[in-house]
Amino acid sequence: MRVTVVGTGYVGLVTGACLAHLGHDVTCVDTAPDRVAAVNQGRPPFFEPGLEEILAAAIHAGRLRACDSAAAAVAASDIAMLAVGTPSRQGEIDLSYLSAAAEEVGKGLRDRGGYRVVVVKSTVVPGTTDTLVRGILERASTLRAGEFGLAMNPEFLREGSAVADFLEPDRIVIGEWDQGSGHVLADLYRSFDCPKVFTTLRNAEMTKYASNALLATLVSFANEFAALCEATPDTDVEEVLTGLFLDRRLSPILRGERVVPGILAYLRAGCGFGGSCLPKDVAALRDFARKRGLTPRLLDAVEAVNTARPLQLVSMTEEALGSLRGASIAVLGLAFKPGTDDLRDSPALAVIAQLRERGAEVRGYDPLISAASSAIPGIQVCRSAKEALAEADAAIVVTAWPEFAELDWSDLCRKMRRPVLIDGRNALRSAGIPDEMTLVSIGRHFEPEGAAIVN
Ligand code: NAD
Repeated sequence: MRVTVVGTGYVGLVTGACLAHLGHDVTCVDTAPDRVAAVNQGRPPFFEPGLEEILAAAIHAGRLRACDSAAAAVAASDIAMLAVGTPSRQGEIDLSYLSAAAEEVGKGLRDRGGYRVVVVKSTVVPGTTDTLVRGILERASTLRAGEFGLAMNPEFLREGSAVADFLEPDRIVIGEWDQGSGHVLADLYRSFDCPKVFTTLRNAEMTKYASNALLATLVSFANEFAALCEATPDTDVEEVLTGLFLDRRLSPILRGERVVPGILAYLRAGCGFGGSCLPKDVAALRDFARKRGLTPRLLDAVEAVNTARPLQLVSMTEEALGSLRGASIAVLGLAFKPGTDDLRDSPALAVIAQLRERGAEVRGYDPLISAASSAIPGIQVCRSAKEALAEADAAIVVTAWPEFAELDWSDLCRKMRRPVLIDGRNALRSAGIPDEMTLVSIGRHFEPEGAAIVN
């Protein structure tokens, strides 16, 4: 089928490249000229494992190209997918990119007759597709919904494994305004061997929020226990969670083997969830609830717990050092999780801002963030962990890159001014940290020297 994908971010470009990989003819559209140029040269504008290979192959095979005009591309397509950003503005979902993209797609529908389907892939609050998007499309195309198809098909891929997630999804959810659009998408996804849920537009929109809200809730649940353990001597959140996970309802035993479901990866203590989705989606859903006269108590708490975690990490560092004023702190890991270079809403940003506010000088290192990067103002991004740690008063692990556990900590310890290590992800407990280092683990009571004991 001929598919136009509007927006060449993580969702749009992965969708476009994967559909081309499966044999469809794809045009990717973006308003950013550098993105269009990069895609046409087969270079993804961001890091995502496996994407460069399938993108380059699709371009070479003539099955994918990029341009800046959605209207022209849509006029020559069977399906138009909207995959532009839906960021948060003061806690409210910002639908301006989606509105602009829908306008262009609507013009494309007008330019050529025949039934074509418009699919919202961006994450949007319930009611957006059948009111805002439908209204813009009808006005710009001078057609009525039904004359063109309208569907909502939320995306569940995860950055860092986006290509694999797209090609082997757990499920495909298709909200349909008209039956025709459901049929067209069933055809597009025919080769996918997974459950397909056909439902209303609003159920599809809500399903995406339910999914992300659950993940965020699990993270905050674990972090609530991390905070409780930090305040309680002789407790350790890791041991508490180990005991919790052995409940067979959480990790069933199948054919004699214990199965550890992937969802448990979210039930881990850390310095909070970040990234381009969970924080803004929780915020959008809270705002959505309030506008309906509800008080989203659970989501409010999830957000409050999450906001507190990076600050707690900084307080632990301050306690360990006595003061942060004039201290040199190395932040290890800048992206919101390992395997991506995405800095959006990364907990590292909150940690760095708070360290600087309390008078510390900050150096950072991340395996995927270039030392030339000026993405984080006010800090020096280093080429290696060793460079970041040289003469540091403390190091804080914010992103659980596996390579941090493999560093030669005995050697690094000697390079630091004060060997204090704050493990914000509990990623270094079995990393051979030498006795001379003060290791402060989250979710465990920390007793700075000379402090009074609280029972
Ligand atoms: P992104 O910010 O990485 O990319 C969005 C792209 O859209 C940018 O390249 C931008 O230049 C382009 N764009 C903006 N306005 C445009 C317009 N009018 N016409 C053409 N292009 C335009 O976004 P993303 O992370 O891919 O997210 C897209 C949507 O998918 C969001 O709603 C997000 O919540 C959702 N989502 C994201 C993920 C993820 O892991 N990133 C996963 C699932 C769902």
